Amino acid sequence: MELLEKKLQKHFGYSSFRSVQKEIITNVLNGDDTIVLMPTGGGKSICYQLPSLLLSGLTIVVSPLIALMQDQVQALKGNGIKAAYLNSTLSYSEEQDIMQDIRAGQMKILYVAPERLMTQGFLSFLRDLNISLFAIDEAHCLSSWGHQFRPDYKELKVLRQEFSDVPIIALTATADKTVRKEIGELLLLKRAKYFISSFDRPNLSLAVLPGQKKWEQLQKILLRNGGECGIIYCLSRKNTEDLADKLRRDGYSAQAYHAGLDNDERERTQNNFIHGDLKIVVATVAFGMGIDKSNVRFVIHYNMPGNLEGYYQEIGRAGRDGNPAEAVLFYSYRDVQMREGFIQDIEDEQYRNIQKAKLDRMREYAEAQVCRRQILLTYFSDRIEENCGNCDVCNNPPKFFDGTILAQKALSAVKRCEQKLTVTSLIDVLKGTNSPAVSQHQFQYIKTFGAGNDQTVFEWQLFIQQFIQLGLMEVDYKDGYRLKTTDFGEQVLFGKFKIDLVTPETIKTRQKVNKEKAAKIKSATTKGKNTFPMDDDLYEELRLLRKKIADKNGKPAFRIFSNASLENMSALKPKTMQDFLEVHGVGEFKAKQFGRLFMDKIKEYTH
Ligand code: ADP
Ligand code: ZN
Repeated sequence: MELLEKKLQKHFGYSSFRSVQKEIITNVLNGDDTIVLMPTGGGKSICYQLPSLLLSGLTIVVSPLIALMQDQVQALKGNGIKAAYLNSTLSYSEEQDIMQDIRAGQMKILYVAPERLMTQGFLSFLRDLNISLFAIDEAHCLSSWGHQFRPDYKELKVLRQEFSDVPIIALTATADKTVRKEIGELLLLKRAKYFISSFDRPNLSLAVLPGQKKWEQLQKILLRNGGECGIIYCLSRKNTEDLADKLRRDGYSAQAYHAGLDNDERERTQNNFIHGDLKIVVATVAFGMGIDKSNVRFVIHYNMPGNLEGYYQEIGRAGRDGNPAEAVLFYSYRDVQMREGFIQDIEDEQYRNIQKAKLDRMREYAEAQVCRRQILLTYFSDRIEENCGNCDVCNNPPKFFDGTILAQKALSAVKRCEQKLTVTSLIDVLKGTNSPAVSQHQFQYIKTFGAGNDQTVFEWQLFIQQFIQLGLMEVDYKDGYRLKTTDFGEQVLFGKFKIDLVTPETIKTRQKVNKEKAAKIKSATTKGKNTFPMDDDLYEELRLLRKKIADKNGKPAFRIFSNASLENMSALKPKTMQDFLEVHGVGEFKAKQFGRLFMDKIKEYTH
């Protein structure tokens, strides 16, 4: 085994590097600047943590969130690595102790927030130290075009100015090409090497469902996930609270999370979720950055996000353990309208246009009738040649039918009602429903009133969505979101073109997606050690033991060993320390700490 692999095995318990990790680490150890683009859960941390162990001095990690720092430091300490963070949660004397350790050379990795790093006092403290490496985590926060701009990140150029010999590695999971380029420029990196790892997450199934009757559909998703952990993203704070309430009343373990809640409550919710006591977090985008929880089984977007970067980052929180997980997006025109509204309020024209373009990409994803993973990966300049086989479109390719007559009915209604109908009132007219909107304008007297009674409201919603996508009609945002026929629509109305629609059955079948497919894909892609089948009963025993140890140590269970490690352990049934080190995710430090306890349990079980 080569040196780097040995180190990886010894400290982290992994037998091999993932995709470009090794090339990145080699580049860092050569003293060169590095920019890393890797999806969430891809394994960015190892890219600076492993070098830090091989370099002589201290590695400084710039990290934007307290929760993220704590989490990483806990994980490192769990592997016996000397690490600490400096942030506002520490008392003066705790800080002094840490700085003492640093001066004494008793520290390999230090996490700090950018605002702390930039203080004159702290910079001069650093000047007296032997600094080997700066790692900038969540580096997209540097770019004002990114979706999480943090002004204090811009000041990080000081690092290159003041410590010109110290290499820098910048890492992010979310950066389009503009942002990527900016990261290098803003940090004053000259010849930084870019490493982009694949964004594909084959174990994550992708689906888009109609944004109507969401509650009913949600219950089905929760049912098939039988008590597993997941996140539901909503657009507004109020939405998160309402939905969490509703879920609790239905017997689910659910809590809301948003930036308007006080710190204690947010922290409690986050910890309960990480420890597994809380199953569902209903959150705004404020939740999730830096949360390293491997067994999140689903991420549901109750509302459509504004861009694919954010979306990909959010769904990337599911299935980090490599086991099947699902990402479901509810899509409705109402959400598009809301987003358009937000964007129109942006004053800076250039910024507004960028956000608009990003929203368009998001919509294309949501409306796609081709493999969704291809759309997603192409966006991140990754490409897959074939259909993924694990998205709703691949699983249920669209079936089409001639929808010309349906379109003509709708177009005719829109015209006869003098272009005054919204999606909702158009459906009222087609169905012949005497709603207030209808009677107000006396639409019940037009010729097409009730002409679409053979179709359900749900079906009309699906059709109208497609009419808009096909360009037969458009939503006029400036005129109360009323529908207007287009030139193309006129031509269809007068029989010059035929149009095809996706059948409602296609959509209905997609609503029934299940994870079987993902499970198959997982078993095909899992390489390595799990050649023996896992032992379910033993696995349960090991989980109980882990829970005991975790409670005793006041740590989350996955910090002792991940589920993947326990699965592998139950399969390998190690008897000796050497066997135990073969288990996925077990390094020397943890083996020494917990190996005996787990092997005793295994022995007891096999006897
Ligand atoms: P992110 O890219 O989101 O920062 P992390 O660095 O937190 O991802 O890594 C995600 C998970 O993958 C962690 O549990 C980490 O220990 C694990 N991991 C990283 N590298 C490897 C590897 N080479 N083999 C197995 N697991 C790995
Ligand atoms: Zn697909």
